Parts: sequence; structure tokens; C-alpha cells
Amino acid sequence: LEVNRSTVIKAYQELKADGLVDSHVGRGTVILSQAAKKLSLMEGYINPLPWYQLFTESITSSNDTIIGDIMAMTGGDVISFAGGIPAPNLYPVKIMEEIQKELFQKNGQELFLHSPVEGYYPLRESISYLLRQRQQITASPKDVVVLSGSQQGLDFAARIFIRPGDTVIVEEPTFFGAIQIFRSAGARVIGVPIDNDGMRIDVLESLLVRHKPKFIYTLPTFQNPSGVTLSLERRYQLLNLAYQHQLPIVEDDPYGELYYGNTPVPPLKALDRHGYVIYLSTFSKALFLGLRVGWVAAPPQVLAKFAHLKQMTDLHVNTPAQLLLDAFIRRGDYERHIALLRQEYAERRNIMLKALEKYKIPGISWNKPEGGFYIWCRLPDNIVRHKLVANAGKRGVVFLPGEAFYPDGTQGDTHIRLNYTFAKPQQIEEGIKYLMQAVRETVAA
Ligand code: PMP
Repeated sequence: LEVNRSTVIKAYQELKADGLVDSHVGRGTVILSQAAKKLSLMEGYINPLPWYQLFTESITSSNDTIIGDIMAMTGGDVISFAGGIPAPNLYPVKIMEEIQKELFQKNGQELFLHSPVEGYYPLRESISYLLRQRQQITASPKDVVVLSGSQQGLDFAARIFIRPGDTVIVEEPTFFGAIQIFRSAGARVIGVPIDNDGMRIDVLESLLVRHKPKFIYTLPTFQNPSGVTLSLERRYQLLNLAYQHQLPIVEDDPYGELYYGNTPVPPLKALDRHGYVIYLSTFSKALFLGLRVGWVAAPPQVLAKFAHLKQMTDLHVNTPAQLLLDAFIRRGDYERHIALLRQEYAERRNIMLKALEKYKIPGISWNKPEGGFYIWCRLPDNIVRHKLVANAGKRGVVFLPGEAFYPDGTQGDTHIRLNYTFAKPQQIEEGIKYLMQAVRETVAA
């Protein structure tokens, strides 16, 4: 059937008159449905969607992006003391490649199958083995659930225990990620000050009576951000208080294995004989963050809740990551790697301590952490904090300002957190030199 061109044009003209076609430069002519026609008539009268009225309290209560903004500044020539990232040049890439090849050859299909919600059982066995190495934490594989990083463990703990208005006790300062998560769940986050022996248990006691918290969140070993470790005596005092007040303790232990002197005191989980401690840890600090694998070891009733949340949230940790890590541990590579990190990070810490000494200015002090990732550095009181971030940034150095680590953010704190594991050893001294120049400039301003 031949269609006359003028007939077609005429038909289109009729459709256009009825508002049923629309023509745009470059897109040709489109025939519109009734609904599309209606929409096109309404153009110009549609209001933008008021997104902010739709968001829940939970997401609007934590809109602070400063940390993410600073952490993003790690590329190019920037010397970063900001993140909590292990040294990339030490990642066991070759070994992982070898294991991966073997896995592909031996169990290509298993690699891409789903795993149990609680985690790949052999990895749970391997984690149970690693826990025994941590001063005898006794947790059978069935006491462990594999998670997408310990960050997920914090989120699940919040979802399991916190109702809006509940109180959670944390150290002050503490890991900013935990503050964000607990607050987002509607918790009032109350801080307990720390000193060189960790959380001040004398202060904690009165807070427990006053606030009746749902749980105590603590980073007892090489704390983030301060680097301090809770003394053995205080560990017993903390456990005793928890038993007396019937309070769970959420122990976050990403750094305990990375010690640079003597073996640290045992984790709370190893000292707890009554099942009060929920223990979180991760492969993010000893290996790398990118695989996103951590775990929780907890009493069975609590573990069942973690597993249930895991199933609802994302079913399970990705299978290849779990198989890779399990093989890495079983071959003895994990222990060898940790031994290497202890040496390397001790050296980087020493370089930073030496540089701080060399370039120090009046009013500055810092601690010497025995493990972990951070030096907690106190600056002169008259520093203008937001200007320091900018002035250091101009010189190509980034770090995290202390206030991020306080539950109320307004402590007038003059600490900064300096990470020594990520920057290359040859950059560390240079970075401290520039940072101290920036401090001097900011004090004077
Ligand atoms: N807890 C603490 C104290 C941390 O420092 C970190 C990482 N910065 C995490 C939890 C989360 O680690 P991940 O989710 O990577 O295991």
C-alpha cells in the first residue's frame, strides 16, 4: 500500500491540532498518549518535589558530610593523615591473585553461588580460630556471623537495641561512624571522658545511674581516635558495672591485633564469662577496606537477631570475598601479613612521632600509641579550627579535626587525629612539616 506523503503530513497536522503529537528539534515528532498529552499540558504548573519533607528523622539527623569531604581528598599530591586506611603498597595483592586463580580452577561455580545468611561456614571456622589467637576469645564458628564490615555490625546493634529516645554510652571522643549510626537510630549519645588508661570508669558509674542506657559502646584497644587502651583493671571494673546494671557491652575491636610493642591486654570478650559482650571486628584494617568483610561474635540470642537483620538487609556477604579470606587465613598468610604490618606500622608511627618532635611548636602535645592507626594530637588553644583545615589543605595535607569524634560536636576541642598508616613513609615527615607550618599560620591569624 502506497501512502501519499502529503496524506501523512495532513494526518500529523490533525494530531498536532488535537495536542496528540509533540515535536522537538532533533528528536523528530512523537505521538503522545492521552496521559502524556495531559502531562504536556501541565508542564510549567508542576511543583518541584519537596524531598526534605519526605525524609525520615533518621536520615536528616545526620547530614554532616565534612568527614566524607575530607576523606575524599586523598588523590594526587595530597598527603593524607585523614583516613583510617591501611598502607596500599602492603596489600597482599600477589597472594590474593594466586588464591583467586586456585579458587577459580577448583570451585569456579561455588564462587558465584549464594552463601548461608550467617556466612560461609569454613570462614566462620577460620574467624573462630583467629579469635582464639586474640588472647583466647572462645567463640565457636556458630557464635560468629560474617558481616559487610563492622560498620554493618554497628548499624545492626543500633537496629536491635535502640528505640528513639534511648540512651547509648560511648567514649568521648569515639569513632564518628558509631555516633552517626546511633544518633540516626534516635539515640541520645552520651560520652564518657577518657584518659591515658581509656574510659573513665569512675565517671561512667554515675552516668549509668542517671541515664539508664541500652548499651555501652567501647573501643577498648588502641581507640579510634585517641589511640589509648583501657587498662586491665578498668576492663574488670567495666565488666562488673555491666553485670551490676545488666547492660550489654558492644566491643568494637578493629585494631587490637596491630600492636607495636607488647601484646595488649585481653579483649573484654575474652574476660567476659557471662555473655554480656557483643564483639565486632573486621578485615578492613589488617587487610583492606574494599572487600567489606567484618564479623560479630555474640551470645546466641543476640546472634540470631544479627543473622535475621543480615537476611533482611542483603542476604549475605558476597561469596568470592568470603572464600578468598578463608583461604588466606588457612594458608597461614593472615598471620604472616599481620607480623609484617606490625613492623611496618611501628616504623611509620615512629617517623611521625619523630617529625612531630622535630617541628613541634609551643602548646602542642601528642600521645605515643602502642598500636592501631592514630596519633591524637593536641593543638594550641587559640587555634581557629576551620581555618586550620583550609590552611593545611592549601599546603596539601589533610587530617581529621577532633570535634568530629565528640557526640555533641561542640567540645571546643583542639585535638586533631593523625593517621600514620596510609601516607608513604617518605611523605610523613614532609606532611608533618607542612601541617605545623599551617598550625603556626593559623595561630598567628
Ligand atoms: N569501627 C571503628 C572503630 C573503625 O575505625 C572502623 C573503620 N574506620 C569501623 C568500625 C568500620 O570498619 P569496617 O566497616 O570497614 O569493618
